[in-house]
Amino acid sequence: MTLPDMTEAQIRRYARHIVLAEIGGVGQAQLIAARVLVVGAGGLGAPLLQYLAAAGVGTLGVIDDDTVDLSNLQRQIIHRTADIGMAKVESARRALSDINPEVRVVMHPRRLTADNAEQIIAGYEIVADGSDNFATRYLVNDVCYRLKKILVSAAILRFDGQISTYKAWRGAGHPCLRCLFPAAPSEDAVPSCAQAGVLGSLAGTLGALQATEVVKEILGIGRSLSGRMLTYDALEASFEEMTIAKRPDCPTCGS
Ligand SMILES: [Zn+2]
Repeated sequence: MTLPDMTEAQIRRYARHIVLAEIGGVGQAQLIAARVLVVGAGGLGAPLLQYLAAAGVGTLGVIDDDTVDLSNLQRQIIHRTADIGMAKVESARRALSDINPEVRVVMHPRRLTADNAEQIIAGYEIVADGSDNFATRYLVNDVCYRLKKILVSAAILRFDGQISTYKAWRGAGHPCLRCLFPAAPSEDAVPSCAQAGVLGSLAGTLGALQATEVVKEILGIGRSLSGRMLTYDALEASFEEMTIAKRPDCPTCGS
């Protein structure tokens, strides 16, 4: 087994990955070389960022324009009580460098908009969306399609979560978010977590699933969630899977 350009400390830190046949030294080196953008340092972003940093993903971009609020701490476990009032990207950066100082954290303390999205997303290979609003979700979907970036997208509300992977630029069998829902619902049609509530640990379940799917996409191992949506009902303690068809008339990826 070859361990390309890894120090003794790295070999020890990542030993439980390196021993996995599906990862090995080569896979760990791929994780160290990877660049992943996490949209939102909130409930989903918290476990997602922590697991990706622990896994040694070499460059982690964090985009969030918010500051830490007392009401975040019930589920956003990357932030601490002492961080209240601090920019979430800065609070996240500190937590991540405590977990793994080898990871380069790039802070984007702003809201993703149509004006800046292409420029920011272009710097990464994979985007993981844990944002809390439809406008951002659709923007990320459309820009990732145009720039041919893999998108791992999750959402949570109350006791329910869902996750899928989008790489619609690969063609047949690979739908995008707009194949599923062609237009974003109006913001008042679907309640937010602030209005309807969300179980704190549900963010952990879905954020950890996102981290797993990001690692799988970096390494090209296992079965991708592209073309499928996994849903989790916490009250029922059940997972279900649905197939997402590519829509020929999709406004983003249709022909
Ligand atoms: Zn589509």
